[in-house]
Amino acid sequence: MTENKTYLFKKVPAVDKLLNTRRISELLEIYPRDMVTNAIRQTLEQLRYQIKDESLTTETQLKTETVIDLVEKKLVRITRPSLISVINATGVIIHTNLGRSPLAETVLEKLGSLPGGYCNLEYDINSGKRGSRYVHVEGLLKDLTNSEAAMVVNNNAAAVLLCLETIAKGQKVIVSRGQLVEIGGSFRIPDVMRKSGAQMVEVGTTNKTHLADYERAIDSDTSLLLKVHKSNFALIGFTEDVSLSEMVSLGRRYGIPVMEDLGSGCLINFSDYGLPMEPTVQDALAQGADLVTFSGDKLLGGPQAGIILGREDLIKSIRENQLTRALRIDKLTLLALEEALRLYMDKQKAAKKIPVLKMIFQSYDSLKEKAAYLAKLVTDINTDNFSLELMDGNSMTGGGSLPHLRLPSKMLCLVPNRLSAQHMETWLREYDPPIITRVKGEKVLFDVRTIGDKELMTVARAIKDLALIKGEMRGTDNKKYT
Ligand SMILES: *Cc1c(COP(=O)(O)O)cnc(C)c1O
Repeated sequence: MTENKTYLFKKVPAVDKLLNTRRISELLEIYPRDMVTNAIRQTLEQLRYQIKDESLTTETQLKTETVIDLVEKKLVRITRPSLISVINATGVIIHTNLGRSPLAETVLEKLGSLPGGYCNLEYDINSGKRGSRYVHVEGLLKDLTNSEAAMVVNNNAAAVLLCLETIAKGQKVIVSRGQLVEIGGSFRIPDVMRKSGAQMVEVGTTNKTHLADYERAIDSDTSLLLKVHKSNFALIGFTEDVSLSEMVSLGRRYGIPVMEDLGSGCLINFSDYGLPMEPTVQDALAQGADLVTFSGDKLLGGPQAGIILGREDLIKSIRENQLTRALRIDKLTLLALEEALRLYMDKQKAAKKIPVLKMIFQSYDSLKEKAAYLAKLVTDINTDNFSLELMDGNSMTGGGSLPHLRLPSKMLCLVPNRLSAQHMETWLREYDPPIITRVKGEKVLFDVRTIGDKELMTVARAIKDLALIKGEMRGTDNKKYT
């Protein structure tokens, strides 16, 4: 070992010595003793490691005050909550990485007012007997969709798995090759099918499937005809798909149920809002689907959940399936889902109060105003680091829904001067609260569509703070100039 290393090792402060300092005793008033001692030990260990691999070479880095700074940072990091609010400035409305659907005000209020103690989750107050957790949303779902029966599970992946396992285990399910989707990297129709114990029978080709393809594949082992919403992709060109109603009449002729995995589960008629038609849950049921499954937190705009609607007898057997117990919905989710569904009792109100719908239906003109307002909040910043500009762009629905839909929006852009776009994006991401932006063409974009009205002030504050930093220069990655 070199002489310098030996010298530095001796200069690492002792645990006891640190524990006796005034600053550490202050920290002991905030954090438990074990946690502080552990943080000190770990910090010292790290320092010794750094001496060993020569990333620490000067004595000043081992001064008591400097070491305590490190201990304090570590304590702050350990005790900071992990799941936190972020501001979504990406313009992707149902952002899978950012928690998909933000919840409506009334849903949040409901969660906030949650009685701390017990609730009638599985208790029938009228009879004083054991009840079912599903009743809390069953009536609402039936009223909203005209479904015969309804139940809910953890998410739509669970809903699909459960339906297949109940109805088609050990038997055949016919599905078009054009619908074998993968969603979010881990939900793949062929894999879910295998897990459920059903045998998948693929028919048709990637671009074209005909009714006769389904009919030819039917045999005595066929237990289900499955239609899957393409969700995150679209087929263009020479394509052909069999409509749900055609599948239903085929199924009826052979006495085979038809299920549609709708994915997003839209209850609102998008064409009423000048947008392309998106199949609704009500439509699927009206066309005669025996089972319909969809997510609670995509276009529906509620909490993560999987909703199963359809025929009473089928839903009864699904409820009785042992697997249901493993996939069952939690009371907090149920509470949020009930409240979100309640908003749909008045569809027009839902379009205004459900955040994902409100964001989708926001007009370009109102976004233009919103962007102008944000720009006004930051007009007189110093432009050494970056300049500001307003630009047209597109938001997306995201969450594996409406992949081809581009929603015209307005962006506030940071155009790099001294700071690089990448550096600014990182800085904003590390802001409190983190602000997630998009970098495009060397500009940092804030799509105002997904920024809440109440968040505009925070975004403005971040932009002002960023204008003042004297950090990294453009094109000099990782070198700090202060
Ligand atoms: C999103 C989606 C799923 C999975 O739903 P989760 O709620 O993410 O579990 C299943 N099927 C389709 C068609 C989907 O779009």
